[in-house]
Amino acid sequence: MKSNIVKNAFRKVAAGKASMRSLSSVSAKLEELGSGGLNFDFSDEQIAMKETAKKFAREMVAPKAAYYDQTMEYPMDLFKEAWNLGLVNMHVPEKFGGVEMGVLDECIVAEEIAVGCSGVGTAILANSLASMPLLVAANDSLKQKYLGRLIEEPLQAAYCVTEPGAGSDVSGIKTRCEKKGNEFVVNGSKMWITNGGVANWYFVLTRSDPDPKCPASKAFTAFVIDRDAPGVSVGKKEVNMGQRCSDTRAVTFEDVVVPQDQVIGEEGKGFLLAMSAFDRTRPAVGAGAVGLAQRALEESIKYATERKTMGTHIINHQSVANLIADMAIGVETARLMVLKSAFDVDLGRRNTYFASIAKCYGADIANKAATDAVQIFGGNGFNTEYPVEKLMRDAKIYQIYEGTAQIQRLIITRELLKKM
Ligand SMILES: Cc1cc2nc3c(=O)[nH]c(=O)nc-3n(C[C@H](O)[C@H](O)[C@H](O)COP(=O)(O)OP(=O)(O)OC[C@H]3O[C@@H](n4cnc5c(N)ncnc54)[C@H](O)[C@@H]3O)c2cc1C
Repeated sequence: MKSNIVKNAFRKVAAGKASMRSLSSVSAKLEELGSGGLNFDFSDEQIAMKETAKKFAREMVAPKAAYYDQTMEYPMDLFKEAWNLGLVNMHVPEKFGGVEMGVLDECIVAEEIAVGCSGVGTAILANSLASMPLLVAANDSLKQKYLGRLIEEPLQAAYCVTEPGAGSDVSGIKTRCEKKGNEFVVNGSKMWITNGGVANWYFVLTRSDPDPKCPASKAFTAFVIDRDAPGVSVGKKEVNMGQRCSDTRAVTFEDVVVPQDQVIGEEGKGFLLAMSAFDRTRPAVGAGAVGLAQRALEESIKYATERKTMGTHIINHQSVANLIADMAIGVETARLMVLKSAFDVDLGRRNTYFASIAKCYGADIANKAATDAVQIFGGNGFNTEYPVEKLMRDAKIYQIYEGTAQIQRLIITRELLKKM
């Protein structure tokens, strides 16, 4: 269909029946269809959204980043401001009061916010991770109740899968649910839950079939559980190496009674549901990592063009310039992979392979860029008065959460083998 539109348009131009200018309406038509061939330009709306996020990040987030890093306070004022600007819960469909943006739109915003502070970025993005399984599989009344709530008020949500004994090995989780009539009783403890202490509701993955021989695709059931449900408690705020304002806690469920209608999707199908969310959230995690690397690049250029040694600015020393060039190579290439993975999933294509590359590569280049920025700053880089030591601490988590660097590589290889 698309190639016919293009052929017909060019035929008309060649036959003098249409002007070259008419081709722009053809490209608009193709855009409507979802793909107009290779095009690296953002739409006007995306440019406006990027500018809004950039202004927010640079004028409001960056000046407060050191404060929130040192105090480890949850950045509630910044969350509320982002919510007011429409930079939170971007995927919620219009039907439930949201703006129904795509994954690519969210990546544009996630990168910009992470330039200001990736910890604030994580606090904001956690809502998307928690919402994604509902968007994928919940019925309309559950979506209206829980996603609608996030649109009505600046509330947080959290994604509860990891446990003290099982992170990479998701099928090893022990939190269980037991069906009793029209209700389920949930027992177990989750660990490392972002937004754990501030969330209004939780996405929770439980084991519903205790038989160890039951395949993962049939053994787990997912729920949405209210924070104030009797039996839900949260642990102390964890003291982390980086992204310290993001609220990471244990969340415990003790004989929590959950009505049947809070099951997300089908009973027994929770594992695939929890995993499917990652195809839509990993691109934005990669985008956050790119934002952090971009900040490292900008700080490095600024410092290297001010600091002098041996009678010249240090950027004129080739080995320093090379570090900066490598940062730029990382930022530009990782950004492309983030956008590609987001573009694919927005078009409904399977993007597991590209989402893992975007997340994995973004995390690696963020860590390299932050480490090299510290190097460029010399002794100052090692000191909290300068911004780059925080970047180095913040960068590490990108290689751990939402699937570690090793797990991403396993996925990439598995997907490659499937293709072959
Ligand atoms: C700050 C923070 C926020 C987080 N937020 C959330 C959240 O909101 N929700 C949530 O559910 N979880 C969250 N997590 C948990 C996170 O996703 C896990 O920590 C992560 O998946 C790794 O699991 P693990 O810590 O149990 O490490 P393990 O799985 O024990 O892994 C330990 C090491 O072994 C490697 N490894 C494990 N298995 C393999 C394998 N098969 N092949 C090769 N290497 C392997 C890992 O890569 C890692 O290097 C968060 C974690 C942190 C630190």
